[in-house]
Amino acid sequence: MRGFARRQSVERAIAWLDAQLQPLDPEPVPLRMAARRVLAESIASNVDVPGFDRATMDGYALAAESTEGATSYNRLPLTVIGDSLPGRPFPHHVGAGQAVRIMTGAPMPEGCDAVLPAEWVESTEATSNVFAVAAVSPGKHVGRRGEDVTRGTAVLSLGRRLRPQDLGVLSSIGVEQVHVYRRPRVRLVITGNELLPAGSRPHGHCIVDANGPMLAALVERDGGLVDFPSLVPDEHDAILDSLYTEADVVIVSGGSSVGVEDLAPTLLASHGELAVHGIAMRPSSPTGFGRLEHRLVFLLPGNPVSCLCAYDFFAGRAIRALGGLSKAWPYDSIIAKLGRKISSPIGRLDYARVRLVDGDVEPIAVGGASILSSTTRADGFVIVPADSEGFAPGSEVEVWLYA
Ligand code: AMP
Ligand code: MG
Repeated sequence: MRGFARRQSVERAIAWLDAQLQPLDPEPVPLRMAARRVLAESIASNVDVPGFDRATMDGYALAAESTEGATSYNRLPLTVIGDSLPGRPFPHHVGAGQAVRIMTGAPMPEGCDAVLPAEWVESTEATSNVFAVAAVSPGKHVGRRGEDVTRGTAVLSLGRRLRPQDLGVLSSIGVEQVHVYRRPRVRLVITGNELLPAGSRPHGHCIVDANGPMLAALVERDGGLVDFPSLVPDEHDAILDSLYTEADVVIVSGGSSVGVEDLAPTLLASHGELAVHGIAMRPSSPTGFGRLEHRLVFLLPGNPVSCLCAYDFFAGRAIRALGGLSKAWPYDSIIAKLGRKISSPIGRLDYARVRLVDGDVEPIAVGGASILSSTTRADGFVIVPADSEGFAPGSEVEVWLYA
């Protein structure tokens, strides 16, 4: 196998990529379809929520001063003159010494500035009179108009990935559709004559495709729409055909290096643009990417750990950005102390899988990028930048936690 003439730095590879990345066009979607979509607009409210003052407890709406001095030894009589129910307000003014039975969420009647909770009232069966046995101050148990959302204020900003509760708030301010970025369509081209489709039992000298299911889940996590028709043999025409698709992004798994079996780089270079090929990192150095007409094409190594790492560094970044999400990793990170050293040669970025053991960072000692279970045993990974020789035991390192 020929080697790469020169491996590009991760930074330069990302610089080329970032120059290609613009969010796709926005599209309107009804609110009920908008969960997890990314807002392409900022939304302010043009209404108050609630649009009226309302009770926040069941009890009696009244003027607080009607209860002044009330205790269980000094019961103050109140004349109950009606009811206020949710959606059915009491339509008259309430005067001194009067009260209106009110339920949580019901509009406060005119003349009332407090709710006396039901448990602070004693009633007699004979009359409609009740007695206040405690005092309330003005404003007590009243939800003010606009206390949830005030008219004119910003509710959600452009770039927000909509959470379920966001849809609730948008609905409450009368929004019925939102503009969100179109989801990038991502074609998965999983190559390898040795592969069996996911769902098979491994047999003979064949292995079951690990990258297809993994990449499909990664793409969905990052907001993309997966198109994964079937496995593709290591054949010139089959690979070329699979690159010409409607998709915005094509991810080819396998055959990305410089060997005779590695067809995709040559195909991309001759039919489109192979802008990056060979990157100074481990794993994933035989990664390439470029364009074929409108599509971004990523050539990821078949070794599953390399495939995961190259996805996270490059393809995932692009898919998130096309869909209007942050380019940053969707992983939380923590700072923790390294239990054993991690070494790495100058000039190459390293992606080291690690476990957290009693709060300390333990590198997982595995040789190759073919050991995918190293990533399931790992809690996350540590990046050693190209200009570093690694980290000594006891140093504080940033651990990116797999999610
Ligand atoms: P390649 O990048 O095609 O040279 O493949 C490198 C190694 O990864 C070989 O051992 C392949 O059998 C293995 N491999 C390639 N594709 C996959 C896949 N989809 N799932 C699991 N292993 C794979
Ligand atoms: Mg292969």
